[in-house]
Amino acid sequence: MGRILIIGAGGVATVAAHKVCQNPDTFTEVMIASRTLPKCEALAQVLNKKYGTTVKTAQVDADSVEQLVKLLSSYKPQLVMNLALPYQDLTIMEACLQTGCNYLDTANYEPKDEAHFEYSWQWAYREKFERAGLCAILGCGFDPGVTSIFTAYAAKHHFDELQYLDIVDCNAGNHHKAFATNFNPEINIREITQKGLYWENGRYIETEPMAIHKPLTYPGIGPRESYLLHHEEIESLVINYPTIKRARFWMTFGQQYLTYLDVIQNIGMSRIDEIVYEAPLACPENGKTMAKVKIVPLQFLKAVLPNPQDLGENYDGETSIGCRIRGLRDGQEHTYYIYNNCSHRAAYEETGMQGVSYTTGVPAMIGAKMFLEGLWNKPGVHNVEEFDPDPFMAQLNTQGLPWHEIHDGDLEL
Ligand code: NDP
Repeated sequence: MGRILIIGAGGVATVAAHKVCQNPDTFTEVMIASRTLPKCEALAQVLNKKYGTTVKTAQVDADSVEQLVKLLSSYKPQLVMNLALPYQDLTIMEACLQTGCNYLDTANYEPKDEAHFEYSWQWAYREKFERAGLCAILGCGFDPGVTSIFTAYAAKHHFDELQYLDIVDCNAGNHHKAFATNFNPEINIREITQKGLYWENGRYIETEPMAIHKPLTYPGIGPRESYLLHHEEIESLVINYPTIKRARFWMTFGQQYLTYLDVIQNIGMSRIDEIVYEAPLACPENGKTMAKVKIVPLQFLKAVLPNPQDLGENYDGETSIGCRIRGLRDGQEHTYYIYNNCSHRAAYEETGMQGVSYTTGVPAMIGAKMFLEGLWNKPGVHNVEEFDPDPFMAQLNTQGLPWHEIHDGDLEL
């Protein structure tokens, strides 16, 4: 039915590629392209052996529109799944426009030199995509992604008016490392060291990082300290559901993780500006010489931290991510909690990756499936809650991320 190009060969792309290969009726031709070709080739080899597919590979620097245009013009995918990093969103969208390809991603754009994310840069492409008759699907991971679709599902089936939304993200897994991040360390640390932000009564309220926290009880897990963070799906949800009076995002962190994070910040390793470092470099004449090189401390830290792709083997426990919603139906106040729990071990056994990559890669595949099957396809640039949630929700149950509902329970919030 469709030809797709996956850009990136990291944790999320690996899971998405497995799920794509498990759905051969929809995804008839697949290419994986990334910066490091051997990673794409190694992944394609695993997939082709496991599923009997003929996944193709290519090398591309997705920071270069020129290289992307060349690749897209020759492979001609119907949809490009951007599973590289948020830095590449705009170059890939630009290349899609130039070559007539549709687009999907899991994280909104952020500039490399500023730890700041918002949708304005990508929403600015709306008219161009509309005029070209192309569709861009933004934020199709778990959060953003499934959390936004859970909200759309609640609005469609359970409420006349959404009023209070709390997105709750718990990782109760243990990878048995002293410190590691569950997805790209650079992106992850930039995200969680930002100031907190939430929506209340028509405006955003900013807090110091991690300043607001409380224990929340997660199904099958129990109470975990949960911290209010700024998260990107809030930005589109309060626009698409204007009756929302308050929208917040909470994520759990263990004390040890926070202590390490504090140290990382205090010693300057989370800095994203360039510093000059005197490094021993190989010199053809005398073997070694000292040279001044520029490095970004956070990128250096990423290079020495465990690779999130390698955490799966000893990861136990599970994630629990969902939406706690209060609102009106038939004039009465109701509460609703919808969530998915995902086992790290089960994710690893199926795809070789841990649960955080799994909960992002599976929805990315389902979003692509929705597009290729014509269920989610309208010209323009859209956040996932703008599409019909029902066929996506049905797929979550069959593709490895089943969901559960609690009606009129205590939301704790
Ligand atoms: P990884 O770091 O594991 O993988 C990123 C991949 O992108 C690597 O293969 C990397 O190549 C490739 N890449 C980086 N820069 C370029 C470039 N310039 N050109 C081509 N390829 C490039 O990250 P994850 O898989 O953990 O995360 C992928 C995306 O998913 C991120 O955008 C992240 O923010 C998002 N995410 C979304 C979530 C959600 O729920 N919505 C949750 C978790 C993650 P190389 O191997 O050479 O470095």
